[in-house]
Amino acid sequence: MTSYRVGTGFDAHRLAPGRKLMLGGVELPHPRGLEGHSDGDCAAHALCDALLGAAAAGDMGTHFPSSDPQWRDATGTTFLQRTAHIVDARGFAVENVDLTVIAQEPALAPHMDEMRLAVGRCLAVDSDRVSVKAKSTDGLGAIGRGEGIAAIATVLLRKKE
Ligand code: MG
Repeated sequence: MTSYRVGTGFDAHRLAPGRKLMLGGVELPHPRGLEGHSDGDCAAHALCDALLGAAAAGDMGTHFPSSDPQWRDATGTTFLQRTAHIVDARGFAVENVDLTVIAQEPALAPHMDEMRLAVGRCLAVDSDRVSVKAKSTDGLGAIGRGEGIAAIATVLLRKKE
């Protein structure tokens, strides 16, 4: 019988001027980008934590500590590819991914398909296994004021035979 494992991940970063806005490994046109020790790609980071969570393999801080200069300015793509290797080495394959990005701006809808393709490439799965959804908070709270962007990810892993 096939064995499955579910995992969840969350991340949020502050928006700041003078940064590229990277989400799910895709650069979006916007006057501000996400702050961080890395490129601030909260969608990629939430997804990494969901993958690691499903494999019971720790979290991003375990594998990519911000105290390690190796990860300074690291891209979300790099983290996703590295995490995919960790999950693969533990005997798991990605069944599907569901990612929700929560932002007041910019409008994410025009970039959803590109993000699905980019995430699928990083994880070496077809993009039809990758869902990316966008939400605003209708102006509520820090995200509603455009101070930052958050992401929530759910992943299902399948134990390889
Ligand atoms: Mg992060």
